[in-house]
Amino acid sequence: MGKKVIVVGGGASGLAAAILAARQGAQVTILEHMDRVGKKLLSTGNGRCNLTNWEMREDCYHCGQKDFPMKVLGQFGVEDTLAFFEEIGITVKSKKGYIYPRSEQASAVLDMLRLEVKRLGVQEQTGCEIKELRQKGNRGFLARTNQGVWTGNTLILAAGSRAAPATGSDGSGYKMARGFGHTIIRPLPALVQLRCEGRFFKHLAGVRCEARVAIVSQGEVLAGDVGEVQFTDYGISGIPTFQVSRFAAAALAEGKPVEAVLDFLPGMEWEEAEAFLEGRIKKLPHLTGKDFLTGVFPKKLAEVLIRLAGIEPGERISQKPPGAREELLGHIKAFEAVVTATNSFEQAQVCSGGVDTREVFAETMESKLAPGLYLVGEILDVDGICGGYNLQWAWSTGCIAGKHGGA
Ligand SMILES: Cc1cc2nc3c(=O)[nH]c(=O)nc-3n(C[C@H](O)[C@H](O)[C@H](O)COP(=O)(O)OP(=O)(O)OC[C@H]3O[C@@H](n4cnc5c(N)ncnc54)[C@H](O)[C@@H]3O)c2cc1C
Repeated sequence: MGKKVIVVGGGASGLAAAILAARQGAQVTILEHMDRVGKKLLSTGNGRCNLTNWEMREDCYHCGQKDFPMKVLGQFGVEDTLAFFEEIGITVKSKKGYIYPRSEQASAVLDMLRLEVKRLGVQEQTGCEIKELRQKGNRGFLARTNQGVWTGNTLILAAGSRAAPATGSDGSGYKMARGFGHTIIRPLPALVQLRCEGRFFKHLAGVRCEARVAIVSQGEVLAGDVGEVQFTDYGISGIPTFQVSRFAAAALAEGKPVEAVLDFLPGMEWEEAEAFLEGRIKKLPHLTGKDFLTGVFPKKLAEVLIRLAGIEPGERISQKPPGAREELLGHIKAFEAVVTATNSFEQAQVCSGGVDTREVFAETMESKLAPGLYLVGEILDVDGICGGYNLQWAWSTGCIAGKHGGA
């Protein structure tokens, strides 16, 4: 008779862990409090599920223990993940290194994971509220729920973070981990929109534009990223905003002032941008404020930049003094907005913070504090950048824990 394994949470990492544990011959039960497993998976990658990414580097992950994520990925990486998906029937395709199921349907990933779970005889216990979770005797665990009591030799905590709680991850996993003595590094929203001060955001809502977004606090650049920024009526969104948002969240949580500084000509150094504007003035001396940046930036953004530089729509730029042109350049290369907050956990794709990884063995994902307890996925103090890195973290940690915890 194989081991008995309890998996708390039927998300990406929990399903992967359950499959690997069952393949070791373990008798596995998933305790899931939602009415179905894998709800978050369905909304990943805008419904297409960006499963992973060919490019894995240390700086794709943030963790209190810098080398921890790559140590884990060194044991179960992208190729192992693709083999795992191939085995359950998911063929993939790559778009510039970003890997998706070939059908580009997140639901297909969940369907095939669930078929494998079923084939292996894993018990899916949905609508299951955990009332008590504790160690039982020397190495065993007990879960008392609204649907009965489960015992196991191994407990895999895969309850996720606080991000997108509508999909089930309401932060209750942190409390359970704390119950076994684990330290929780304060969870904060990450991969999330930034709320900014400024009347012009209402005007800019809906505008998309290539830019570099830098997060600056007290004169120090904390992070920067280039890509398509999306303006909303309250601030900024889009992938580069998401990538830097965790740094804004951390500084704001420490009570520090935070600014987002946007560079709308990220491919040009300051002098190049200046020469570009001067060249445009020479070539097109008849253009007024209204049209001067038309064709360079989206119209609404052009209007805001011209207005911020104090140029009237009817004024010819060629007749403005150098100071006004410099000011315009300043707003184009360093558009400043005070960040008042990030959006909440409800809108965040992931969380920074979580269980301190110094309390977990990178080789097995087993707790150093409670033998037989394994911690996987986003509950840990690891957050990846956009691009498939967070799901890769869920697959890697889930598969490693399932393999070791199920044997
Ligand atoms: C909108 C959106 C899009 C995303 N897109 C991508 C993407 O394309 N690529 C990518 O890599 N990452 C993406 N992510 C991030 C990725 O989905 C998560 O990092 C990943 O799902 C985390 O896996 P997990 O198993 O740790 O947690 P989850 O997937 O959140 O699963 C946790 C499970 O535990 C259950 N649970 C929680 N508490 C309890 C409890 N007390 N009792 C029982 N069950 C419990 C939950 O209901 C849930 O089913 C996206 C996230 C969001 C919100």
